Amino acid sequence: MQPDASEPIVNAMSIDVEDYFHVSVFDGIVPRSQWESMESRVCGNTQRLLDIFEEYEVKSTFFVLGWVGERHPELVRAIAARGHEIASHGYAHRLVYDQTRAAFRDDVRRAKSLLEDASGRAVSGYRAPSYSITPRSLWAIDVLIEEGYRYDSSIFPIRHDRYGISVSDRKPYRIDRPGGSLIEVPGSTTQLGTMNLPVAGGGYFRILPYWWTRWGIARVNAQERRPAIFYLHPWEIDPQQPRLAAGRLSRFRHYRNLDDTESRLRRLLTDFRFDTMEKVVDAARLTIHHDERVALSLPYSW
Ligand SMILES: [Zn+2]
Repeated sequence: MQPDASEPIVNAMSIDVEDYFHVSVFDGIVPRSQWESMESRVCGNTQRLLDIFEEYEVKSTFFVLGWVGERHPELVRAIAARGHEIASHGYAHRLVYDQTRAAFRDDVRRAKSLLEDASGRAVSGYRAPSYSITPRSLWAIDVLIEEGYRYDSSIFPIRHDRYGISVSDRKPYRIDRPGGSLIEVPGSTTQLGTMNLPVAGGGYFRILPYWWTRWGIARVNAQERRPAIFYLHPWEIDPQQPRLAAGRLSRFRHYRNLDDTESRLRRLLTDFRFDTMEKVVDAARLTIHHDERVALSLPYSW
């Protein structure tokens, strides 16, 4: 079932709630043993995002890192109290393909349970650190189903040095497994020739000119009549964050245009409509139930 062509498409807004030092490119620079001693800026930055969303009357999904939710349950409560969706970014920000199945299960179970305790609501969505569900960690899908997650947003259909399954579907799809089903909701891309290029979030939003994102989301909405899935991190609107001594490429990826991102976000919220992942997933689920052909299009068995 395609949405009515006269209706404006409602896209998904999502925030991965973590601090600037949790980012995977800084793994070798800020070991986990030092996290506790770092200056924390995640609460202030997330509060600013909440205020911006209120100003534009937008609801978003917040994929909260369990480690952050454990230390700041009041932040989780504040997000939920303002009508946004709480979802899980795992507990310790470890890449999925670097974990055993048992360790991954502990991580996603711990995050879900403490976020549900803090928010008083069921958590149904998961997004892996650095989109790290790849061909070698597809077993994670089974664990997420067993742990009660309803949707996942970790499989990016692109080529990248650290993540992505370039042959996976670009639109939301259902993955059927022996233990149950899960809706996969990939970050948005646009197709140029045979290439899938990311158009909706993170470094691509911050580093490339704004017109790229606006063109890409408009293209997904107009040509495919589908919502775009957008993502951002609280540290991306914080030009005052402490600078870490990373390599040149990591510094470029992390620090470029931090002072411009909030104004870009405001333009984005003016140019498009947004709601939570849950709402978009519910709509996609309907479509998927109407069309059996869109179940599982990953060319792997595991
Ligand atoms: Zn993250």
